[in-house]
Amino acid sequence: MAKLTSGFEIFGLVLFFGMVIFVFGHQCNPLPKTMYAAENRTLQGYTFARRPVRSRVICGRDCSIDKRCKSFNFNDCSKICELNLATRQEHPKVFNATLGSVYFDGDEDTLLYSLADKAYACAGLTLVERCEWGARKPRFPKAMPDTPDHCIVHHTAGHSTGSGQCYAQDTCSAMMRSFQNYDVDTNGWNDIGYNFVIGGDERVYVGRGWNVIGAHAGPSYNHRAIGIAVIGNYKNVLPNSTVLDVLQRLMACGVESGNLSPSYFLRGHRDVRNTTCPGDLLHAKIKTWSHY
Ligand SMILES: [Zn+2]
Repeated sequence: MAKLTSGFEIFGLVLFFGMVIFVFGHQCNPLPKTMYAAENRTLQGYTFARRPVRSRVICGRDCSIDKRCKSFNFNDCSKICELNLATRQEHPKVFNATLGSVYFDGDEDTLLYSLADKAYACAGLTLVERCEWGARKPRFPKAMPDTPDHCIVHHTAGHSTGSGQCYAQDTCSAMMRSFQNYDVDTNGWNDIGYNFVIGGDERVYVGRGWNVIGAHAGPSYNHRAIGIAVIGNYKNVLPNSTVLDVLQRLMACGVESGNLSPSYFLRGHRDVRNTTCPGDLLHAKIKTWSHY
């Protein structure tokens, strides 16, 4: 229903700005009155304007009053609005999964592309975006040169501030901030090292994300590996079954969203470096999974 509500919000907005549209040439570009949303998707490569705005409604207004605009992407967390010259129907190959972003166009069938289906691995994950856990800005983020073909699992016990556990978003967010502070201020890195971190609250905290090279497994692997850390110490205990499920689902989400090679290699940190990470029990567990 969120999608429909969004549509009605835009509908109301179009009515409100109807006069503006009329004055500026509604006849040239009759933008549909109702816009349909696909959650966790963006149309990529056809953006002609990109700017921060307060809400998806403002983004929709900006699209309505620009006659070049045929669809738009809006990121709810970064509040970045992207106006597009094309639609997903015209360019289905670049209509890609993008967590945290929503795509709108005037095509009713776009609803079918919303990723509410529980079968879709990403939809079953609760992501906490960087702005939500209070991340500092990264310095010099460097894009992954190719689709990563490794997933490297860590526990945070090896991290100076990571031997504890957290079971709620506020305490896990505080741990994320402390990891980042340590990695930036003490290690001298550009950002928190991990690409993703899974908390005892069963949420996925976005570190460097899918597309930025991390600092977690050394120079031979960082540029080709997604580093996923599970908060805690797994030498003598395992993460609970839900956390393990979230870890597997996150990797499946990477494949489904095109951010991780379908033939990726799953490894523990100790498989590629001289370390006990990710703990004896967690390491033994991931060895039983496919892709190891
Ligand atoms: Zn590690």
